[in-house]
Amino acid sequence: MMNMDFIRKLPIPKDVKEQFPISEEIKKIKAAKDKEIADVFKGRSDKFILVIGPCSADREDAVMDYICRLAKVQEQVKDKLILIPRIYTNKPRTTGQGYKGMVHQPDPTKGEDMLEGIIAIRKLHTRAVNETGLVCADEMLYPENHRYLSDILSYVAIGARSVEDQQHRLTASGLEIPVGMKNPTGGDYSVMLNSITAAQSSHTFLYRGWECRSKGNPLAHAILRGYVDRRGVSHPNYHYEDLASLYEMYSSKGLENVAVIVDSNHCNSGKQYLEQIRICNEVLHSMRHNADINSFVKGFMIESYIEDGAQKVDGGEYGKSITDPCLGWEKSEKLILSIADQLR
Ligand code: PEP
Ligand code: MN
Repeated sequence: MMNMDFIRKLPIPKDVKEQFPISEEIKKIKAAKDKEIADVFKGRSDKFILVIGPCSADREDAVMDYICRLAKVQEQVKDKLILIPRIYTNKPRTTGQGYKGMVHQPDPTKGEDMLEGIIAIRKLHTRAVNETGLVCADEMLYPENHRYLSDILSYVAIGARSVEDQQHRLTASGLEIPVGMKNPTGGDYSVMLNSITAAQSSHTFLYRGWECRSKGNPLAHAILRGYVDRRGVSHPNYHYEDLASLYEMYSSKGLENVAVIVDSNHCNSGKQYLEQIRICNEVLHSMRHNADINSFVKGFMIESYIEDGAQKVDGGEYGKSITDPCLGWEKSEKLILSIADQLR
């Protein structure tokens, strides 16, 4: 027996995809962008990736406004940077209680509605690509839900709390796009590297009621996000020594496309979101100092939105994060331009 109600049967991903399709033109744009991004991870391109945007995509209007701003900057930095907007549609609070993201609550101040939620996230991701030509990222909180967006997404992150989970690893092994495996909250590099090994391997497994076989994903890579100790105190792992020791461990594993993205917020900044600027600058300095680190670091993950900081879920302030605090637009734009300037 189970202590829960099966409220209603929801449409399967195929139905939702048919209802909100991607045009042939967008498919072509996405394929070209996906190749451009894959070339970075494969070491065939010197471009640098910024996975950038709010911690959670809380409302369509502000997120679209933000991504349209990014699209303009992308034009200016296109020779050096690939901007991948973060549209995180299933971002829960750290404790799992309260707000669980757009897929659960399309209106964060109202109750949960999963049908509306699935449609809202599909619509937002579709609009973003259609209206800006930028291809986007989301976190794979729930592997079972990935197929609602599998034809639109160009980058997926596996969060610090999910990276040890078998279903996440197996699903990641069946994706064709880069999947960033975050270091777990405790910071253990070997857990992250085991996850990358699992995601790069082929598996036969049960997924959405099917027996599936994945090919293995050679674009699975690492994301450093800092860690907490047993007292809950945050520690960074973006310093020169952190990058050098991860590079050494990672390179000895025989994995494909050895690559790391540095997340400048979370435990790396201790959620002091303004520190993201200094952290990016420090990593750029480390890259200039050491050729291995220069080729190892493929990009940054930056939490950025229209307004600085964060507010409570029902704060109602347009363009201000309702989860982790973000760098506001003016500072973000400056940071993007400065990163582009600093890259050789
Ligand atoms: C995030 O990217 O917003 C996030 C909470 O990530 P992590 O899994 O690193 O905590
Ligand atoms: Mn966050």
